[in-house]
Amino acid sequence: MTTETFDLVIIGGGIHGAAVARDAAGRGLKVLLAEKGDYACATSSNSSKLIHGGLRYLEHLELKLVRESLVERAELLRAAPHLVTPLKFLLPIYDWQTRSAWLVHAGLTLYDLLSMGDGLPASGRVSSAEAESLPYLRQDHLSAVLHYHDCQTDDARLTLAVALDARARGADILNRRAVIAIAALENGYAVELDERGQKRRIETRFIVNAAGPYAPQVDALTEAAPESATAAARARQPYRAADAGPARTVRLYAARRRRAHRVRHAMAGRALPGHRHHRRPP
Ligand SMILES: Cc1cc2nc3c(=O)[nH]c(=O)nc-3n(C[C@H](O)[C@H](O)[C@H](O)COP(=O)(O)OP(=O)(O)OC[C@H]3O[C@@H](n4cnc5c(N)ncnc54)[C@H](O)[C@@H]3O)c2cc1C
Repeated sequence: MTTETFDLVIIGGGIHGAAVARDAAGRGLKVLLAEKGDYACATSSNSSKLIHGGLRYLEHLELKLVRESLVERAELLRAAPHLVTPLKFLLPIYDWQTRSAWLVHAGLTLYDLLSMGDGLPASGRVSSAEAESLPYLRQDHLSAVLHYHDCQTDDARLTLAVALDARARGADILNRRAVIAIAALENGYAVELDERGQKRRIETRFIVNAAGPYAPQVDALTEAAPESATAAARARQPYRAADAGPARTVRLYAARRRRAHRVRHAMAGRALPGHRHHRRPP
């Protein structure tokens, strides 16, 4: 019996796994994504469901990060308007707060500038009459009510849309398939899948561990995981996806370091890889 060989096996069908599959399939790689439960069954259906630029990072002057996130937000708005919709936020500012109304307003103006051209309404100040009429809002010591826009989404549907688009680009996207073993080969990996009780062995040149909070357990399946990843798994460090930068949110296993560099370079710095290169809506 012949063993099927892939360029890339992705472990995990959350938003990161789906997005990597979409990107890699769009680049012509032979891709298989294995999800042990259902798509988006873990973190990717339990988020706050915001597509945001990271307003709070402005306080630390992370302008590049915020700009990049806002560009991705605009791209998602354009590519998937049925799944990503503008959401208006109201920010009441009280005179006992450490950040004054003018300081927060200045931050919102910077947020507007960094998101220029995306068509969302500019931030501003709610009129006193409107602020007074807002239901349930405590009026004592209220110095201003500011408004700005971010976007909201249905996170599980967005993940499914990206996974379906990855499939349309030729990726094998499979749910109810757990990866249960990984062994290093001379030029890649052998991966064992549990397909509803049946074992299936496949081979691949690269693996992306996109198992989110389960990433250390996946690392622990093999000695072939990257050194830093296995060290983290052994130390039983909790995986903090929310704190991890895009590069650390998924982990690439590559038997050859030079190739790993090439693949990492192709996927570098992308919150949702592929959005800027592939203009087709997910
Ligand atoms: C409370 C909260 C609020 C958040 N709010 C936002 C927000 O508003 N906006 C935003 O952009 N981000 C938000 N985030 C962050 C965002 O939700 C996560 O970064 C993202 O969902 C992580 O996706 P993932 O694909 O890495 O992981 P997951 O969605 O957890 O996917 C990992 C998948 O791997 C699968 N898996 C694990 N082991 C195996 C195996 N051995 N074989 C096969 N499959 C396996 C799991 O079943 C799971 O489906 C929030 C996060 C949290 C916790």
